[in-house]
Amino acid sequence: MGSEIDRDTVVKRSVELMRSGATLLAEVCPLCRSPLFRLRSGEIVCPIHGRVMVVKTEEEVAEAGVIGVLTELEKKISNLLINRVKNISEDEASYDDARDIVMWLEAIERIERIKQMLKQVPEQRKRKAEEKHEEQ
Ligand SMILES: [Zn+2]
Repeated sequence: MGSEIDRDTVVKRSVELMRSGATLLAEVCPLCRSPLFRLRSGEIVCPIHGRVMVVKTEEEVAEAGVIGVLTELEKKISNLLINRVKNISEDEASYDDARDIVMWLEAIERIERIKQMLKQVPEQRKRKAEEKHEEQ
């Protein structure tokens, strides 16, 4: 194994983490730059490296990185969804088909929501900084 990160693995594990209720963080793994997740237990994990120590990085750079990864993840999920739909026979769509489609759609919806949140963060931070300034 080289230092190259298997993106498919990152995507697959990220989806698994989100499905298990983990929260996507703005920070990225210091080792592989994958987005980090906070588990329900509070532990912070990288999809590749497992538990990691989070060193505060330049926050906005990290956010931009996360948005890039999310966009990539979204593209991949869209393709998975398209392939899934293509494989459904018109006569016998099953419960599994429906469940999978809903799952992928939910994933896309969450990605969109997270991206919106991340995009709003720098604005809010700026606003807060301004408010603080006015108080003084
Ligand atoms: Zn990592």
